[in-house]
This record gives sequence, C-alpha cells and structure tokens, in this order.
Amino acid sequence: MKRFFAVWAVAVLMLFCCGCAAGGPQSFKVQNVDTVMGTVLQQTLYISDRETPADQEIALLLRKLEEERLSRRLETSEVSRLNQAAGEDSGSAVSDFLEEVLKGCLEIWQKSGGAFDITLGAVVSLWDIDGWASGENQGVFAPPRDEQLRKALESCGCGRMKIEGGRLYLPEGMELDLGAVGKGIALDQLLVYLREKNEITGAVISLGGSILTYGQKPDGESWSVGIADPEDTASIIGTLTLEGEWFVSTSGDYERYAEADGIRYHHIIDPATGYPADSGVRGVTILAKEGFLSDALSTACFILGEEKGMELAAGCGVEVLFVGKDGRITMSEGMKAYFTAAADHSRGE
Ligand code: FAD
Ligand code: MG
Repeated sequence: MKRFFAVWAVAVLMLFCCGCAAGGPQSFKVQNVDTVMGTVLQQTLYISDRETPADQEIALLLRKLEEERLSRRLETSEVSRLNQAAGEDSGSAVSDFLEEVLKGCLEIWQKSGGAFDITLGAVVSLWDIDGWASGENQGVFAPPRDEQLRKALESCGCGRMKIEGGRLYLPEGMELDLGAVGKGIALDQLLVYLREKNEITGAVISLGGSILTYGQKPDGESWSVGIADPEDTASIIGTLTLEGEWFVSTSGDYERYAEADGIRYHHIIDPATGYPADSGVRGVTILAKEGFLSDALSTACFILGEEKGMELAAGCGVEVLFVGKDGRITMSEGMKAYFTAAADHSRGE
C-alpha cells in the first residue's frame, strides 16, 4: 500500500470534466483530481483554449519535481541521493534549486527557534507516518519507545547540516524530509507555469494542505477558500475571500494520525521531544504570497502555538489563523480582511 503513494503513476481518482463556464463562451472550466506526493491534487482551471492539456502538464510537472528533486521515498530524487551520502566526508553535490530550498529551510529553522526542522527524517520514519496515511498500520500501530526516539533525535538538527561550495554535508544517520514544505515549493513552481500560459485565465490548485489561487474567474468573482473545522472536517469554520495570486496552507492534527491505547498521535513532531507537538492548537492556516513560506510556516506555527506563532508569522510578513483545542479562532490583524466565519461558527474573536 505504501507503494500506492510512492509510485506516482497511480490512480486518477476522478476524471476530466470540461464545459463552458458561465461567464462566457471563451472560457472552459477543467476539473481534475489526481494523486501526487502521497496526497490529493485537485485542479480547477479556467482555460480559453479547450485543447490545452494544462491539467496533465501540471500533474506531470509535480511528478517530475517529486521524482527528480523532493521525495525521500523515491531513489531517483536528489533528496534521496543526499540522504544516502550522509556521513561522507566529501559531502554531496547539491543543485542550485535544492541549495536555495535548504537555505530557506535553515532560515525558518532559525526564526522558529528550531521548531521547524527538515532533518527529522529518522524520527518521522520511527513513527511510520506514511503507514498511517496508507492505512496499512491501522489497528496495529504502537508508538516508538522513548529510547528509540532519543537515539533518532541524536541524528537530527538543522544546525548540524552544512552547505558550502555547492556541496551539502550531512552527518551520519541524518535524513532530510521535506514533507512540511514540499507542497508549497511545488505550488511556487506551478505559479511560474501558470504565468507563462496565456490560455489559463484563472486557477485554484490544491495539493494536500496547500492551495494556490491564480488569475480570475470568468465572472470576475473572488476566489473562496474554505478552512476545515478540525472537529468535523466535513464542515468549515469559515472562508478566505481572495483576489488573484495567493498561497494558503493549513497544518492540523486531524488529517494524518494514528491511535494506540486510546491516545491519538499526529504527524507534526516537536523536535525538542520527538513526540507530536502539543501547543494547544488543532489547526493553523497561513496566507502568504509564497508557497514555500505558507507551507513551512503553517507547520512551524502549529508547533510553536498561538503566541510565538503569531510573532513568527508577523516577522515573516504572512497572515495566520489558529484554531485552538477549545475551538477558539484567533488570527493576525491582516487576516481579518480576508476571513469570514461560517454562519454556525462564532467561537472566535
Ligand atoms: P505539514 O505540516 O506541511 O507537514 C508535516 C510533515 O512534515 C510530517 O508528515 C513530516 O513529514 C514533516 N515534519 C514533522 N514534524 C516536522 C517539523 N517539526 N519540522 C519540519 N517538518 C516536520 N506521504 C506518503 O504517505 N507517501 C508518499 O509517497 C509521499 N510522498 C511525498 C513526496 C513529497 C515530495 C512530499 C513533499 C511529501 C510526500 N508525502 C508522502 C507526504 C505528504 O504528502 C505530506 O507531506 C503529509 O501529508 C504532510 O503534509 P501536511 O500538509 O499535512 O503537513
Ligand atoms: Mg507545512
């Protein structure tokens, strides 16, 4: 089942639906749902030329990025190659693309006081988080033991990673895991693609917990992005009303988790303990002009919690919204201009 996610050429869950959009005969609405990067890719595209296979090109671009660069599960990727070279004195050559990504991650690691850490691969593997997603360890999950986590944590820590002269030096046992930022990076790449495609006049692309809005709907209406209710993911706490290009990422404890002895464990790890973060929040949504930032900071702010997360978001120039364990909604001042609470959701500011 793990391979279901690792091999990208798998199930296309729903197919191409094409028709004339309400706004005018020149614009066609294309919707497509697929699986990429172990998560769901949903596309809604408004295209002036019906023949443009943009949805397929987008899926291809994402798979290429996963296979060639970002996946730590596929041997073909640069991240896998870098992980395999951990402990080698000579380090490993790193592409300009990944060097920039890693430097960006180092910056967020510093700004978050170490809460955001892409070197937690060994700890993430111990928790068998991929197994939770595929459902293969349901009913048989047992959390790792304290001493296992302590040992795995010894091989982690962004501060022990060195980038110099186009080479990356990882200490023995360290494993990069870009799960917290890969989808944001991918959406940044998609924005470049969309800007080059004149036929695409508007788009909403959702990849797991991250969403990109682009351009306009044919009828000129704003984009509306719902934020799931952690208590009941079939409903929303409210919506963000957005014009043009935006990135929205949400990290929560309710998507990927496993239970053992009545305790629920989720997939966002506090590097200080090796255990799932427990900062009093259930969900964090970031609104940003960059996919990398929105994805990285939703994870970081989830670990930091409301007070420190709010400071981090302000320092990085993004808007943030928290849903607390008690259901309370708090948000940055700037977020208020975009957020509308759902009619049956008033537990907030
Ligand atoms: P986010 O909050 O954005 O990220 C949480 C993830 O980040 C965790 O799952 C963990 O991997 C990592 N993480 C945990 N704690 C920290 C921390 N303190 N600092 C930094 N990172 C942390 N999943 C599969 O099951 N099978 C696959 O084949 C698969 N392939 C993938 C390929 C790529 C290129 C990427 C980027 C991800 C892949 N995933 C896969 C993972 C999956 O798509 C998501 O990363 C996962 O669902 C978490 O995303 P999120 O938005 O829910 O949470
Ligand atoms: Mg993230």
